[in-house]
Parts: sequence; C-alpha cells; structure tokens
Amino acid sequence: MEKSLCVVALVLFLGRFICGAETTTQSFSFLSNYTTPSSVKWTQAVIVEEQSRDRVTPTAETRRHSKTVTEEQPNSTNVNEGNKGIKEEELKDKEDHKIKDKKINLDCPPLGLESLRVDDSQIRASSSQRTGLGPHRGRLNIQSGISDGDQYDGAWCAEFKDKHQWIEVDAIHLTLFTGVILQGRNSIWSWDWVESYKVQLSNDSVDWQTCMNGTEEAIFKGNQDPETPVLGLLPVPTVARFIRINPQTWYFNGTICLRAEILGCRVHDPMDPYQQERGSRDNLDFRHHDYKEMRKLMKSVTEECPDITHIYTIGKSYMGLKLYVMEISDNPGKHELGEPEFRYVAGMHGNEALGRELVLNLMQYLCKEYKKGTQRVVQLVTETRIHLLPSMNPDGYEVAYEKGSELSGWADGRYSFEGIDLNHNFPDLNNIMWDAQEIAADASKVSNHYIPIPEYYTQEDALVAPETRAVISWMQDIPFVLSANLHGGELVVTYPYDCTRDWAPKEDTPTADDAFFRWLATVYASTNLVLANPDRRICHYEDFQMHNNIINGGAWHTVPGSMNDFSYLHTNCFEVTVELSCDKFPHVSELPVEWENNKESLLVYMEQVHRGIKGVIRDKISKQGIANAVIKVEDHDHDIRSAADGDYWRLLNPGEYKVIVWAEGYFPSVRRCRVGQQPHPTICDFTLTKTPIQRLKEIRAKGEKIPKDLQLRLRALRMRKLRASTKAINRRRENQRQRARRARST
Ligand SMILES: [Zn+2]
Repeated sequence: MEKSLCVVALVLFLGRFICGAETTTQSFSFLSNYTTPSSVKWTQAVIVEEQSRDRVTPTAETRRHSKTVTEEQPNSTNVNEGNKGIKEEELKDKEDHKIKDKKINLDCPPLGLESLRVDDSQIRASSSQRTGLGPHRGRLNIQSGISDGDQYDGAWCAEFKDKHQWIEVDAIHLTLFTGVILQGRNSIWSWDWVESYKVQLSNDSVDWQTCMNGTEEAIFKGNQDPETPVLGLLPVPTVARFIRINPQTWYFNGTICLRAEILGCRVHDPMDPYQQERGSRDNLDFRHHDYKEMRKLMKSVTEECPDITHIYTIGKSYMGLKLYVMEISDNPGKHELGEPEFRYVAGMHGNEALGRELVLNLMQYLCKEYKKGTQRVVQLVTETRIHLLPSMNPDGYEVAYEKGSELSGWADGRYSFEGIDLNHNFPDLNNIMWDAQEIAADASKVSNHYIPIPEYYTQEDALVAPETRAVISWMQDIPFVLSANLHGGELVVTYPYDCTRDWAPKEDTPTADDAFFRWLATVYASTNLVLANPDRRICHYEDFQMHNNIINGGAWHTVPGSMNDFSYLHTNCFEVTVELSCDKFPHVSELPVEWENNKESLLVYMEQVHRGIKGVIRDKISKQGIANAVIKVEDHDHDIRSAADGDYWRLLNPGEYKVIVWAEGYFPSVRRCRVGQQPHPTICDFTLTKTPIQRLKEIRAKGEKIPKDLQLRLRALRMRKLRASTKAINRRRENQRQRARRARST
C-alpha cells in the first residue's frame, strides 16, 4: 500500500491541489502551538515522490522513528559531533534517514476504524439517520446487511443535509494526524457519498480548529462513487487528540454518508503506560511481501533450513507468476509411508492478504523453532509433511498490493486476472452426487467419494482458471489428509458443504463427517485470540459468536464449486475455510499482532492431521501395499482410499468404529478400531486376501502354471456356484408349476 499512498499523495500535491501549494512535507504542528506552514515549491513535491519510490514499508520500527522526528530531531545534528572521520557512506546514511523522516509524515498508520482497533465508543457524530447508520458504521470497508434498516448498515449517514454535520474520532492519545481516507456508503439500494469535506482537530472536543491550507481552510476532495477509497493528506500533519470530518458537498441525489479511516502516529509519551509497542516476540519478517519479496523470503527460509524445506511450483497464474509451495518435513521432497500430508492455501482471493503473510510467517517460524529444537515443532515437522501455498492468486494480490492496504477497497484484486472467482471455479461435484443418489434405486450404492470430474469441465474451452487447474492436479498428486483455506474479511471458520442442495441461498448442508468438521473448525476458532474473545465486536453485520465462531458454509451462503467441497468429494482431504480478520488487507503495523492472534491456531490445526485412524493396507502374501483400497467406516457415508503405497488416514473423533476395507480383486476385511481422546492416531492395519479369480487372472497374464491350492479353490467355487444356480432354477420351475396349477383350477 505504501507505494501507492505516495503516488496518491503526489496526485494530491500536483494534480488537484485542493489543499493548495502552501504545504510542506517536513513540518507539522502541535495544535496548541499552531504555526503557519512554510511554503513548498513544486520541485520539492517532485523530490518527495522520487524518494518515496524505494520507500520501506512503515512498521513499528518506522513509527518509532516518527517519535524521533517529533521530539528528538533538534539534537540529531549533534550525534556525530567531534567525529571528523565520518565516512561518505555514513553521511549518505544520514541523508537517507532524513529522507525517511520526511516520508514518515505522510505515512502514519491507520488508527484502526477498519480493523476495529478503534472502539465504537471512540466514534461520535453530529446526528444520524437511524441506529443502523450510526457513527459506529462510519468505518472504511464496512459492509451492510442485506436489508436496509437493520442495525448494521453500510455507512454513517447524517440526519440532516447541511454543512454542520460531522463524524468525530477520539484517538484517546495525543496523535500526529496525517490524513483521512474517505469512502461512500455500501448499500444495494442507495447511492450516497461525500464529495468534499473539511477536517477539524481538537485536544478536548470542545475547541476545534479547522485544518488550514495557508491562510484558507483546507477543502479535501472526497468520493465520486460509493466504493473507491480516496486519501486526503493534511497539508500540515498536526498533533491533537480528536479529529472531525466535516462534509461540505455530497452526491446531488443522495445524503451525507461516509465510511472513513484516519491516519495518525501516536505521539511518544514516556508517562503513558500503554505506550508499549503491540507486537510479537518472534523475530519474523512482518511486512507485506509482493511477488518478488515473497520469493526472496521463501528462498531465505530454505537457505536457513535446507534440511527440512523444499520449494516447488504447482503451475503458473494467468499472468505467468509461479504458484510456489514450500514443503516442510524431515525428509522433504518425498512421501514417507504412514506420514500424513497437510496443506495451507492462502490468497485464493488476492486481496485477502493476511493469510499470505501468516503462511510466510509460519514458514519462518517452523524453520527457526525446528533449529532451536522446540519439541512441539520438531515433532510436527518430523511426523507430518507440510505444504504451504502462500499465494494461490498472485495476479490478484499484485493488483491489491499496488493500491495498498488502505486504498484497495473491498474487492480490488479478489478475482483472478481473467475475472474468475477461484472459490467458485472448482467442478461442482455436490450436485452430481446428489442427483445420482436421487435417481438411484439404492442411494447407498452411489459412490460417496472420489467423484470424478465431469466431462464439460475438462474441455479446453471450459472457463477454468489456470490457478484452479494447477491446484486440482496438485490435489490429485499428493495424498493430502487435511487442509485449511485462508481468507479474510470476516471472523469465522466455515466447514463443508459450502454448496446447498436445491439451490437454496443458504441452508445447513452437513457432510457425512459433520462432527469431525465441527471439531476442526472449533479447534481453529477457539484458539484464535480474536475469534475467541467474547467481547469482540462483530465485523460487518453477521453475528458468528452465537455459533461459537464456526458455521457450515451452506448455512452462511451457498458457494457452488468451492475448493472445500471439491477437496472432500474428489480427494481424501478434509478442508475448512478460515476467515481471518474483519480487514481483508490489514496495515503492515497490524501484522505482528495478527501473527500472535493466529500462531497457536495455525499450529494446533496442523496437529489435527494426527487424529483418527491410520495404517497400511497390504496384500497377505506379498506384503505389498495396496493402492486405491476403499476404507469405509460404519455409519459414515464417506469413504476414503489408500495412497500409492497402501497407507491411509481416516480422520475421526474419539470413539469405536467398525471399519471395512476392500480393494479390487481382494476379499473385504473388517476390523474394529478405537480412537482415543489423545491427538495420536490409532494404528489400524489391514491385510487383504486376493480372490481366487484375481489370482487366476494374474497367473494367466504371466503365463504361469496354476498351483494346486488355487485349482482346488476354483473348483470349490465353481461347485458352490453350480449348486446355487441349480437351486434357483428348481425354485423357478416349482413356481411356474404352481402358477399353472392355479390357472387350471380357476
Ligand atoms: Zn475470500
């Protein structure tokens, strides 16, 4: 976002120039000591733009720099006093620092109206049309409910249409305010936005000073449509506690409605007990990584941990960006007998950027902790083959990244380059299975797993994104057992089915493994620090807390062709969707705390791959593993199959199960398997005996002599068949005779 902020800043400086040429990028004022800003020349504005191209992303680190600017700059010239041997490079460093400091003034993070870090109680307004359009709804990117008139509408809307309306944010602490981001109203039914506004600042919310632009009150340019966020930078960054947005003009056919974010750096106060930086103790690279940076980071992890990591690609995006996967395992690059395979997929919707960063954090974390010998991580890495795909839709991500975390809006970058929503792009196997069950005489005979991909979907002209194709063949190549698909924009964990029956817009549509899916979703939701917080505010308009922060996908809204449903019906893999945060693209300063919010959940969720039963299915004579054997658990109408080496994993809740295994050419085998409360799988191996016919087939194919025992078995089999058929014939004849007798007697 950071790059685009500056470009927009330049547009503000050079383009419209509503704030006037009377501005400076370096000075700012304290409200109590309001100074007239010095004049800036055109050339200076250009310099700012050039310098900002290579600007680093602001982090907690750079925010600390801003304190230096505000309070310690006067001394900074003394730092190297007396040191005559300053090298040229150091001088350059110093220059760079100054440049950096200049940039920081444009670059304060959002206060958190969008992320909900700003509480409802911190936002007030002059008036509002009704409760659902109250000041608490004046948050960037907030989404409205389906019907207007509920509690959760799509903006703050003033009751009156005049120039005395305002929405006010109490930053609680003294804050260097640098800008405002404005957006119109989110509504299916109405169009409303504010086209220009003034900004006022106060230390007590009683005396207000209007943000000046030289000698005139600054007028900021607002919106021209309901959705595009527009940044307005204060001509002079100013320290205050309260800030007001005061609309001046609005869409001629609408009313005063807006959603906003405020940019501001908290001013350092040594007496303030809350002054500690929020963050993480883990030394990870907390930044938004574009494609190149992501690649670099992944490479650095493999260099740090070459023994347990391996990077591979599963294909390319439409624009040719590679879909990189990092594998983390004690023997990377190959499947080990009995070791379950796990995957995290992030960034299927390109603008839902948090998952991508969390997956990148996870790579670094696993590597570092493995090296340290942290027992939990060592065990996980040793016993599991973990695959991490941080960006399924890299084209979409680049679009959102260019605009930035605050200015990419709600949907920019969601879709693939071709405009495809990847989570609706998988083949709809649900309806194929349900239709087959409906017309079948015995629904239990219809296959409940490994549903084949339909013909239409495989055709060359089918509207299937290259990203989807790549993921499907990845799913077919590796015997994944468990997965999660990381999204953003809400706080909830959803589990399949995502697609409802009979096209209902929403309806609870459970799978045959509903209990285990609910467990999986609960594992993530109950360990996530935000989701599990009972006092949290709802993100937009739906209250998932009343469902313990988990919901069946179909019960939320139907999604035909989702990745979760496909994964469950076409492969053995169980997958849930995690909606990680209200804000799809959190500001970089939020990343450390988001990592902490999700760290335990990401780990404990992976550990669930070790629940249930697992084992190897072998041929009784040769002891070879049997691939593609069907594993059926009684009362679970969803079978799974063994992998190439005959190993299998069946996720199950604690309990005792009757398990039936069969494979083509073998007699079925039945066992009872008990799953305990501990997160360790129960080993349940099976040995299958070939049917005599199968043995005969194989011997004949090899042109070998039929052994004596098989000859006897085949003869016995033939005799049994003959006896059975003779019995059937006799029965039929007897029936015929009886019918004939009855006919004669009537
Ligand atoms: Zn999504």
